[in-house]
Amino acid sequence: MSDFGNKTVSGLIKNYYSKALNMAPDRLAEREFGFGSFSSRIAVRHTSFATERELHSYLADSAPLHVDYSAAYYRHPAAQMDKKEWLGSELRFDIDAGDIVKLPCRIEHGKEWSCDKCLKAAKEEVIKLIENFLVPDFGFSQREMEINFSGNRGYHVHIRKESVLSLSKSAREEISSYIFGNEPDYAAFFYTTRVDARHEKQMGPSPNDGGWRGKVAKAFLDAAHSKEDLTSLGIDKTTASWIFRNVAKVREEVSKGNWDFVRIPNRESVFENLLSRQVINQGNRIDKGVTNDPSHLMRLPNSIHGGTGLIAKKVPSLAALDIFDPMKGAVAFREGELKVKVDSKYKLTINGAEFGPYKNEEKTLPTYAATYLYLKGLADIVDSK
Ligand SMILES: [Zn+2]
Repeated sequence: MSDFGNKTVSGLIKNYYSKALNMAPDRLAEREFGFGSFSSRIAVRHTSFATERELHSYLADSAPLHVDYSAAYYRHPAAQMDKKEWLGSELRFDIDAGDIVKLPCRIEHGKEWSCDKCLKAAKEEVIKLIENFLVPDFGFSQREMEINFSGNRGYHVHIRKESVLSLSKSAREEISSYIFGNEPDYAAFFYTTRVDARHEKQMGPSPNDGGWRGKVAKAFLDAAHSKEDLTSLGIDKTTASWIFRNVAKVREEVSKGNWDFVRIPNRESVFENLLSRQVINQGNRIDKGVTNDPSHLMRLPNSIHGGTGLIAKKVPSLAALDIFDPMKGAVAFREGELKVKVDSKYKLTINGAEFGPYKNEEKTLPTYAATYLYLKGLADIVDSK
């Protein structure tokens, strides 16, 4: 980082915001804003804007490195916390490749870097979040969700449906703990019913049940079609072969909730494995407060991420997300070149081209590649060419 480098980047950001349209979130005047600089991630907060024009001229004049806005709507968004008067908060989810446990590429390139595999893995978790939880379990429609690239290595999902706005902190905690997989009580999934005077039957989850009960039963039936899949869940070979041979009958009985028909000795650990396959892989996200904290600030969609120079770009739909490549679609500074002194052991793939690795070399690179490396702390900008 250098004065010249910072000044160059600020100039690029200024230019971006002077042309950027539609930066205002819904109910703009009720949102708190925060801004970050080169020295502090959130340097200013408790700011608000009455109109889109005010927001636009602030961004174009000050060229902040980071722009955040509140999940909450307030009567007085610029007041101190206890005077703001909370009116409600959208529900937000933050999926970050940096929080995916056991991501193989990260072992190679470390925590500070992100590659296309990281971005792809984060995207898969977002699709899982929407398709396996938000739509079927909470009944949100895709129209009620907004998906944004975070600008670095993940995605944000916002839900603004009327019914979520007034959710309390503890209700939000329950939602995130359900989605991010606080272990359910498997023993409570089962109960016995009396068939006749001498016989009892063990009943349990069926694929038609809601929540984790249905998910676990469905995943079990999916696995029942393959002996390998069954043993990979920790079921012994003899039991796995029996389930596989009787798969049609197993399906019929489990669909009725009859687990008496399927005797799995280590059922709890098998269920744990079925759950861990489906849970959103975000490590210990429950503690991180993005979903739980109704006053949380998060990056403004379509603003510049000051750690990469990429746009925290809105993705219009789930279908669009499927083909979205942030290292192409979120590139901001497309014009010109910058001369940098760069020392990077990584290969940067951006805008369809590859840059590096570089060993303490002077290079003239496209502006977007130079700023990315500069903001990652791997290059210094020495000339604006
Ligand atoms: Zn990676």
